[in-house]
Amino acid sequence: MSLRQKKYTAFAVMLGVPALLVLMVTGLEDIWTDTHDIAVAILILAEIAGFALHLYWMRCPHCGEHLDRNYGQYCQHCGEEIDWDAKPGGKED
Ligand SMILES: [Zn+2]
Repeated sequence: MSLRQKKYTAFAVMLGVPALLVLMVTGLEDIWTDTHDIAVAILILAEIAGFALHLYWMRCPHCGEHLDRNYGQYCQHCGEEIDWDAKPGGKED
């Protein structure tokens, strides 16, 4: 998986899961009070998971430092160019 794909996956967990949850819960309004606690728990878990994925994946391929919210072309730590589409270890085409 390339850095770009990892970025999108982390954001999909953080944004997609809560969005799906809201859609599900609004469709089940009658039992909203029963599912409320579970929905909130899943939401918090999704945020933590997405954040953890982001923290774990969004690292410079050169120096290994966390890129934080830097989605630019160069690492803010070592200044090396970041190839967002490069797949680590693989030379697949
Ligand atoms: Zn770096």
